[in-house]
Amino acid sequence: MIPVEKARQLIRDFSIATTPALSLNQIFEQYNIIYDEMDYGNTNYMGSLIRAEGKTIILVNTDIKNAGRINFTKAHELGHFSLNHKGEQFECSRTDLMDSTRKPLEIEANQFAKEFLLPEQMIKPISISAPFDFDTIKVISNEFMVSKLVAVFRILEFHLGNYAIIGSKDGIIVHHRISKSLVGKIKFSKSGDSLHNNSFAKQCLISNFRMTGYESIDPNTWVTRNKSGSAFTLKEYSRADKSFGSVLTLLKVDFL
Ligand SMILES: [Zn+2]
Repeated sequence: MIPVEKARQLIRDFSIATTPALSLNQIFEQYNIIYDEMDYGNTNYMGSLIRAEGKTIILVNTDIKNAGRINFTKAHELGHFSLNHKGEQFECSRTDLMDSTRKPLEIEANQFAKEFLLPEQMIKPISISAPFDFDTIKVISNEFMVSKLVAVFRILEFHLGNYAIIGSKDGIIVHHRISKSLVGKIKFSKSGDSLHNNSFAKQCLISNFRMTGYESIDPNTWVTRNKSGSAFTLKEYSRADKSFGSVLTLLKVDFL
């Protein structure tokens, strides 16, 4: 069964109508999965699924402090279990839980986790009607108990507007994603690139500057290639979490 269908089946079987993350522990109990949290002594590992002596154990690294990330890790490990992935032990790293992973089983576990925690039937209607901004991201991440990053990527999957998301850490881009409508048209700075000095993102990172909405920005600050054949303007909305050195940037393209 494909991961998305398996997640939907579980949501039906457990009659989940709101916040699927709240049902994770009940599901573990139902399937006799032992759940525990452990200090891995290594911040690179997020969690594990272990099958030993007829028992199934899901472990999450206590090093993860963010409730949303804990839920994503739990759902990801439940994905390995529900999808009957073969193997006695899955040790899942930070990279394995990212969309950019190339490992087929990790991709499947992530697809399962995304559909389980943020079901299309609940998220799509909100994504289509709500503004693509930090208020919507906050509402979704709070209501569904996921991290802001997981929430914003999921909203973008269904949003009909022309947007890009760029996540950076310590001034270097670590995540980037565009809406379906921009595929093949506009290319933006990518992972590994440095934040442009003229970007609002850089301002937010190095000063107390705080944005409360989209502001016009020179497209050259973020766009590396325009293959659309049309002129456009660009707006940026960035928010920094300076304790982690991270900035989340939303970019809006308006074709002229
Ligand atoms: Zn995994």
